[in-house]
Amino acid sequence: MLARRLPSVLPPLSRDEALELAAIRSVAGRWLEAPAAPLVDDRPPFRSPHASVSAAALLGGGSGVAGPGELSLAHRGVLFLDELYEWPRAVLDALRQPLEEGVVRVARSRATVTYPARVQLVAAANPCRCGGGPACACDEEAVWAYRSRLSGPLADRLDLAPAVAPLTAAELLDPRGGEPSATVARRVGGARAAAAARWRDAGRNADAPVAAVRATATPEALRALALAVDLGGLTGRGYDRTLRVARTCADLDGDDLVRRDHVLEARAHRVALPETPSPRR
Ligand SMILES: [Zn+2]
Repeated sequence: MLARRLPSVLPPLSRDEALELAAIRSVAGRWLEAPAAPLVDDRPPFRSPHASVSAAALLGGGSGVAGPGELSLAHRGVLFLDELYEWPRAVLDALRQPLEEGVVRVARSRATVTYPARVQLVAAANPCRCGGGPACACDEEAVWAYRSRLSGPLADRLDLAPAVAPLTAAELLDPRGGEPSATVARRVGGARAAAAARWRDAGRNADAPVAAVRATATPEALRALALAVDLGGLTGRGYDRTLRVARTCADLDGDDLVRRDHVLEARAHRVALPETPSPRR
């Protein structure tokens, strides 16, 4: 449910972004499926392919010249993979390069095509095959085998990995509900605007040169990151990504500087993933 709500707190697409997405949908033949949908839509897309989707339908494919897949239909929006550990490892590994580059290249005998694929990847997973909870009797070996579907390099590319506890009855019945999406959206919009003003062309904290992001961090913040690397809890790529998340935590705080607390907050958002790559992967 959280994943499905994510587009509602993201800023609307710019005119250029919306046109870019309209072009991708057009190439994919989406007009024929939903002729009533607006031609140019400024809402960030949300795509949630099933774990049984073929690599061609996910990444792009088809006969002749390949068409865009789910990954490109989610461009500038959210690609949601539910039951992540049920996904074939080969399909997940094939996502790595496009996630890094923001484009997907699909080779066919007649032509190689490149489609945009800049998505926010969101995934959900149970802690083990039985779904976890108090009745779980899975042993450590079984849990490890289940989670090994998610390879170290792909796990490395996930910026946030919160553990979500089941709601209590009192929380479910609480008439106040949660914070409205509109309030969250205002906060997100403020943080995005701060990042855009700082980085100009690069726009987002995820896209800015890492040296420039580092230059906005205090010595204490950089020491906290270095310590995480020295203790083996963070890879080189993990260092960069944690720094960028910390930059966003600072922007949500309205702070020009990335401080030690922002680094610790960024690290705390990844608790559900083991940060040290296992040698058996
Ligand atoms: Zn279990």
